[in-house]
Amino acid sequence: MQVQYDVIIAGGGMVGAILACLLGKAGKRVAVLEAHSPTVFSPEDPYDLRVSALSRASQRALIDAGAWEGIAARRAFPYEVMQVWDATGAGEIRFDAADLGEPDLGHIVENRVIQLALLDTLHTLDSVDWYCPDQLATVVVDEQRVIATLQSGQVLQAPLLVGADGAHSKVRALAGIGMSTQDYGQKGLVCVAQTEFPHQLTAWQRFMPSGPLAFLPLAEGFCSVVWTLPADQADAMLRLPDQDFCRELSQALDYRLGAVIAVGERAALSLRGRHADCYSQERVVLVGDAAHTIHPLAGQGVNLGIKDALELAAQICQSTGDCGSPKVLRAYERARRGDNVLTQKAMEGFRLLFGNTLTPWKILRNSGLSIVNRMGFLKYEMAKRAMGI
Ligand SMILES: Cc1cc2nc3c(=O)[nH]c(=O)nc-3n(C[C@H](O)[C@H](O)[C@H](O)COP(=O)(O)OP(=O)(O)OC[C@H]3O[C@@H](n4cnc5c(N)ncnc54)[C@H](O)[C@@H]3O)c2cc1C
Repeated sequence: MQVQYDVIIAGGGMVGAILACLLGKAGKRVAVLEAHSPTVFSPEDPYDLRVSALSRASQRALIDAGAWEGIAARRAFPYEVMQVWDATGAGEIRFDAADLGEPDLGHIVENRVIQLALLDTLHTLDSVDWYCPDQLATVVVDEQRVIATLQSGQVLQAPLLVGADGAHSKVRALAGIGMSTQDYGQKGLVCVAQTEFPHQLTAWQRFMPSGPLAFLPLAEGFCSVVWTLPADQADAMLRLPDQDFCRELSQALDYRLGAVIAVGERAALSLRGRHADCYSQERVVLVGDAAHTIHPLAGQGVNLGIKDALELAAQICQSTGDCGSPKVLRAYERARRGDNVLTQKAMEGFRLLFGNTLTPWKILRNSGLSIVNRMGFLKYEMAKRAMGI
C-alpha cells in the first residue's frame, strides 16, 4: 500500500528535522526518512565533538519550530563576546553583545542536542511520520508525484521529495543534479578541551596562515575546539599523545586561556566547499548541506541550512496548489541561492586573506582588523548580519 504525503524529506538531521517541524506545524502531511537513529542524550554524557554556533536568527527559527525549550533543557551555551585576532601581527577585533544591547551573540549547541530537541517536537505532530532507521531504495518521478520505495519495503507518495541528506546526498545524485566542489586540502580537527583560565563566555578565534583555530565556550572550563590545518598536519596532530597535543593547542591559541590542561577524543574531518548546480529538478529539491557546504571558519553552515528550511517551508505553505511545481521550487531557489553564494564567497575570501603569508597581505589584514575594530558602526553592522538580527 502506498502512503500519501504532501512532502517526503530524506534526512532527519538538523535541517531536515526543522523543515519537518515547520511543515507539520502548518498541517502538512510529512514523511521523514532518517538512516541513523540518534543516540539518546543524558546530562552526564561528555560533550559531543560536533557542535554548532547557532545565530540569533537560527535560535528564533528553533523557537518557532517548538524546539528551543528542548535544547535549553538539555544544554546550550550562550557566548557574549567574540574575539578574533591574527597570529602574524597585532590586528584584533572584538564583538561584544552588550554594545549591541543584546543578551548574547549566539549559542554553542551540540548537533545531536539540536536534532533530538527537534525530534521531540516532530513526534508530537500527528501529521509527521518518522521512518528510522530507513532510507530511499528507489525513486520514480512522474508528472504529478514522486513514488519512493524505502529499504524497508514501504512505498510512499508525494508531490515533492526534499533532499536534506547532507553533503553526500543520495537524493542529489538520484536527481542527477551536478555540483561544483573545492577541496581546501585542509581538515577540521575537533575535540573538547579543558583550559586553565575560564573562557569568559567568549568565542576565541585565532587566524594562522595554516588555518583558523576556534575555542567555543561550553560549560565553564570547557571549550569545543575546531582547528583547521593542512590535512597531513591534522592527521599528525591526531596521532600525538594527549600531553603533547595539549601543548601544541595551548601554543596555537597563544595561551589566551592559559594552558590546555586536558582534551577528550579527537577527530579530523575533511573540509570541502560544495555548491549544487541547481537546487531543484522535477519534484525534487535540496536544502542544507545537500545543496551547499562551506568552510567552517565562521560557523555558518547549519545557519544557512536553517534559512533554507524556513524559506522552503514558507514557499510550500504559501502555495495554494501543487507544492512540488517548478514555480514553488524556483521561488525557493531564487530566494536562497544568492545568500548561500555570497556567504560561501565571503568565507573563501577570509580563508585566502588570512592564509596569505606575503607581507602586504599581512599588513592589510592586520590594519584592516584594527580599523574595523575602531569603527563601531561598520563592526556592529557586520555582527548583526552574522547574528541575523
Ligand atoms: C568542523 C565543522 C564545524 C562546523 N561548525 C559549524 C558551526 O559552528 N555553525 C554552523 O552553522 N555550522 C557548522 N558546521 C556545518 C554544519 O555542521 C552543517 O552545515 C550541518 O550539519 C548541515 O546539516 P544538514 O542537516 O544539512 O546535514 P547533516 O548534518 O549531514 O544531516 C544529514 C542527515 O541525513 C541523514 N542521511 C544521510 N544520508 C541519508 C539517506 N540516504 N537516507 C536517509 N537519511 C540520510 C544523516 O544520517 C543525517 O542525519 C560545521 C561543519 C564542520 C565540518
